[in-house]
Amino acid sequence: MAVISDHSKNPHHHGTLDQGAKVLLNNPTCGDVIELSLLMKEDKIADIAFSGEGCTISVASSSMMTDAVIGKTKEEAFYLASLFSKMVQGQENLETNELGDAAFLSGVSKFPQRIKCSTLGWNALKKALEIEK
Ligand code: ZN
Repeated sequence: MAVISDHSKNPHHHGTLDQGAKVLLNNPTCGDVIELSLLMKEDKIADIAFSGEGCTISVASSSMMTDAVIGKTKEEAFYLASLFSKMVQGQENLETNELGDAAFLSGVSKFPQRIKCSTLGWNALKKALEIEK
């Protein structure tokens, strides 16, 4: 799908931040690696960036995740992460508009071996939110 390949080829918020929390996470089943930087200010995600190597799904999903959570509070970001996780595990009747482009990854639920690729960025986000105040 075009939206997914666009995010994969030209990922948004790609790079690293000088400040904030850093999390390195990998998905051994596919070889995806992500380094996520997260900066909180006044309980909101002020800036976020990621780098690393990964398959199309993992890079696209991380790019979509950064778009979805920037400017959100910690609570909202945790909510979006759990919403995304439910969506790719195939839960139906979810209201996924808030996920933005990440909602395009709902089809991953049909490919169980790719679920970990799609949740890698979101899992890194959750870890970074736990570190960063
Ligand atoms: Zn992967």
